[in-house]
Parts: sequence; structure tokens; C-alpha cells
Amino acid sequence: MVAGPRRPDTNALVVSLLRDLAAVQTSRQKRWGYARAADAVAGLDAPIESYVRADGSLRKIPHVGPSSTRVILEVLATGASATVEEAVAGSGKAREVERSRGLRDTFLTRADVMKALRSRRRDVVSLDDYRGDLQMHSTYSDGKQSLEAIVETGLARGYEYAAVTDHSHGLPIARGVSMARLAEQHWAIDRLNRKYAGRFRLIKGIEANILADGSLDLTPAERRRVELVVAAPHSALRSASDQTGRMLAAVRAQGVHILGHPRGRKYGVRPGVTADWDRVFDAAARKTVAIEIDGDPRRQDIDHELARRALAAGCLFALDSDAHAVSEWEFAETAVAHARLAGIPAERVVNCWPVDFLLDWARGLSA
Ligand SMILES: [Zn+2]
Repeated sequence: MVAGPRRPDTNALVVSLLRDLAAVQTSRQKRWGYARAADAVAGLDAPIESYVRADGSLRKIPHVGPSSTRVILEVLATGASATVEEAVAGSGKAREVERSRGLRDTFLTRADVMKALRSRRRDVVSLDDYRGDLQMHSTYSDGKQSLEAIVETGLARGYEYAAVTDHSHGLPIARGVSMARLAEQHWAIDRLNRKYAGRFRLIKGIEANILADGSLDLTPAERRRVELVVAAPHSALRSASDQTGRMLAAVRAQGVHILGHPRGRKYGVRPGVTADWDRVFDAAARKTVAIEIDGDPRRQDIDHELARRALAAGCLFALDSDAHAVSEWEFAETAVAHARLAGIPAERVVNCWPVDFLLDWARGLSA
């Protein structure tokens, strides 16, 4: 089934315009205010139309001030914002704004996510099928959640497992863990797995960094010390030159299970890796390496359009939150929403597999 082109909803348009308005402010405080309002609208569960009162005014939305409200009312009345267009035109930053606007396609707002989750399609993955998150950062690297908090949050969400995938030592900017520190973490994980045996399983993982040449920052022996390797690019994400070779090398590397946020794109900021994705997906499908849909709202990587091509190539998928804090676990829902829009069935999603089956698959790729 091929879905028609999706028109951005009003929430997405408002978010984009408030981001533009933030970008052209000279005062730091105003920049922060509009950015915060943009985030607030992006996080609304419902279409912004439902916030309009009978008298045409807008119901109070936390973190959305009077000037942002004016932009919203303009958009609702005219489908555009004269205020924003004037501010952009007068700022001397019109080209920058234009460029940023070109880097916002196929991002879902929270309202889009809720709509996709509620849609009645039964042949695609749903939240009920989802058993565990496979990209999580803890206080061992740049995360704010303890291992214990990961277990407790997982249990509260009805999960059966979660993979702890802190950044590897090749990424000092994200406080990547040394192998010695990783050994300590494994000791702590073993202890928690004994304590929660039969209820919840922490999986020993790592987020390895894909270097510019496609090699990883961890040796094959280092990779064998964990149960799950998410390999992801964190550099050369603004280059327009073809990086198919880099991504193919990462997929084919021994002991890689998941190609994490494959493009490395960021909302309104950078397009990420340019590659012949069909070749990358084909290689991943042959090796049964899962392609990640990273649900971080700023990433949404890969998106539903690319995911549809990966599905056609026969790929497996990992739908992850990439949570660095307990408050970010709901990002997994954004990943599930993209998967639903792409038409991905639950059996292709490794997060929906029972833990023994998942670990069997993982061991097969590590060997
Ligand atoms: Zn990453």
C-alpha cells in the first residue's frame, strides 16, 4: 500500500514558523522564548485547532506567550504568518532560514505521532507489540538515568527488557565509557538482572561510533564484550558527498546488530549522511542487521519514507527512544509511529521479539 503525500499539519507549520522567529531574534531571551514555544507546540497531543475557543481566542498552552500566540492565530486564519515573514525578511538571515526550512521534511509532531498510533491499521506494529527499548543512555556516559531507573521505568511501561547502550570510548564529547568502566557497568547489570530475574532483563549494549572511513571505534574483541552493538554515525553529517561506502562498511562490520540513527540528520540543522540507501538496506537485510528508527523528536532517523524502502529491501528494524533521561522514553512512540506509517509489521521489529529470541539473533551476529 502506498500512502499519498502527507501535508504537514498545522502544528508542524506553527513549530517551523516559531523556530524561524527564534532564529532571527537578536536577544537571547527572545530566541529562547520562541524556541520554547516551538517545543511546546511540537509536544501537543492534539491539533492546535482544538485549542481555539468559541470566541476565536486560544486556550492557554504552557510556555506559549502572547507573541507566539499571535503567530498561531495568524496561521489558523491564513495558513501563514505575516509577522514571521516580515521578521525574517528584515533580519538579513532569509537565506539561513530558507535552508533550515528545507531540513524539516518528514518530521512528525507529537499530534502526528498520536494520530499514527491511534490509526486502525492492524497489519502494522503497535505499542502493544513493543517489549523493550534498545537504545538507552545511562549516567555511565551522557545520560541522566541510573541503571536502576532504567529497570523501574521499563517495568512501569510494561516492557520486558532494555538495552543499555552508552557511548563508546571513541566519543569523548558524549563522555564515552572506557572498557574498564564498561566492565564495572556489566557487574552492576549482572547484579540487577539477578535482582529482577524473571521480571526484567537489562541487555549489555554499546553505541559504537562509525568513523568517517566506516570503521568503528571499538575493535572486534571489544565488541564481543557486549551483547548488543548499535553502530551510529556522529561526524561528517553535513557533507553532501556520497558516503555509501562508509555505511556499507559499518553494516558489514563483525558484531554490529543495529545501524543507529543511520542518517544523523537533525531537525532544521543538518541533512545527515548522503548515501545510496537502497544498497545499504540491501546489505543490512542480507546480514540481518536491524535498521534503527530513532524516535528522538529532533532526529526521527530514519523517517517513514526511507523506512518504507528498507521494508521493501527486507530489513529488520529497531524502534528506539535514544533516551538520555526517564522523561525521554516516550520518544519510542515517535519511532513506532514512523514504523506504522511505513507499514512495518511487528515481526520485522526486533523490539517486539521475546528476549530469548532477541538474544539468539544477537549472538548469531556476534559470533
Ligand atoms: Zn548516537
